[in-house]
Amino acid sequence: MSTFQAPKGTYDLTPPRSATFLAVREAISAPLRDSGYGYIETPGFENVELFARGVGESTDIVTKEMYTLTTKGGDQLALRPEGTASVLRAALEANLHKAGNLPVKLWYSGSYYRYERPQAGRYRHFSQVGAEAIGTEDPVLDAELIILADQAYRSLGLRQFRILLNSLGDKECRPVYREALQTFLRDLDLDEETRRRIEINPLRVLDDKRADVQKQLTDAPKLRDYLCDACKAYHEEVRALITAAGVVFEDDEKLVRGLDYYTRTTFEFVHDGLGSQSAVGGGGRYDGLSEMIGGPELPSVGWALGVDRTVLALEAEGVELDLPATTSVYAVPLGEEARRVLFGVVTELRRAGIAADFAFGGRGLKGAMKSANRSGARYTLVAGERDLAEGVVQLKDMESGEQTAVPLTEAAAELAKRFG
Ligand code: AMP
Repeated sequence: MSTFQAPKGTYDLTPPRSATFLAVREAISAPLRDSGYGYIETPGFENVELFARGVGESTDIVTKEMYTLTTKGGDQLALRPEGTASVLRAALEANLHKAGNLPVKLWYSGSYYRYERPQAGRYRHFSQVGAEAIGTEDPVLDAELIILADQAYRSLGLRQFRILLNSLGDKECRPVYREALQTFLRDLDLDEETRRRIEINPLRVLDDKRADVQKQLTDAPKLRDYLCDACKAYHEEVRALITAAGVVFEDDEKLVRGLDYYTRTTFEFVHDGLGSQSAVGGGGRYDGLSEMIGGPELPSVGWALGVDRTVLALEAEGVELDLPATTSVYAVPLGEEARRVLFGVVTELRRAGIAADFAFGGRGLKGAMKSANRSGARYTLVAGERDLAEGVVQLKDMESGEQTAVPLTEAAAELAKRFG
């Protein structure tokens, strides 16, 4: 039998690269945790109807990319293709919005699934860290989220990313624009599928990547010219706030994004080192989503940053994260008695909060020292029969190469002192 491989469009995270993924998740969530966002975790699957209603029946995500299944009990479920609908569903279900503390600010981190054509940077299983601020309409909140995402990327050392910003209008002005756009689009030379899209979600035609379509869109009506005064004022305020924070952005009136629920502020983070899959993250305001999934009116805003593409962006920029060694002390026993004794010391160190590892499997000194080196440990503890007979262990400083005999009973305390 041949060995198994990861399913198409997926890959495994294995050491040492997996440490970078953990560090990226940590770096993206740190600014959120420091800004009043609480952690939320929802199931990996939901009732399919949540996404059909919440993400939009006409979106590629729902029509083509969802992993759906029928359970033995007859439930129609879907592996989650994105986070916002689930998080809002969970917040409503737990009545978080009724606790009198709006906005409800939440962050999450997890796996998402889309049946897409795999290519570099596009996978069928991927990871996102996301944030949602539910129940408040306030341009400061939109600005906060954009600033925190910018801060997260900067803290990782990324520089070649750009922020694209747009406003999609609200339920007053968007329908007027929608109609004007439809009238314009119906006169163009487009294929059947795109013609259908004009009727269901014309804004998404603007997002078409094909050059022959883009060429015909040059004179398309601009949403900017249709924004109502309230939307204009709101957008100007968001722009002014992020500008005041020193965050650089580009106005991109073609930015509509692939999900139906966005209103007003929309933004995308793109990275110029990633080729065609350049979006590393995106988000925006979704004032109507709560009502679309059966909740009360809860204007909200959020974003999701892709962990996979953020790691690719780091690699494209040649940024090496400064990851501290995971092991501080590595123990190398020579002989049976030393194994027992040194394993005792390792346990003692671990209980004292010092990261320690051990040369398992009774290997020779040379091989064990190689492992010690590879572990990145600052100190090695070596003990053979003669050392034990004298009641000592050899403590080797891996940086200076200096080796000293330390009484066995004091080894853990001595190391604690050195790391203290
Ligand atoms: P979206 O919900 O499509 O705006 O996705 C938000 C972010 O998730 C994107 O900017 C990507 O970084 C990431 N992402 C979305 N789909 C995929 C995918 N198929 N593979 C890898 N990352 C993805």
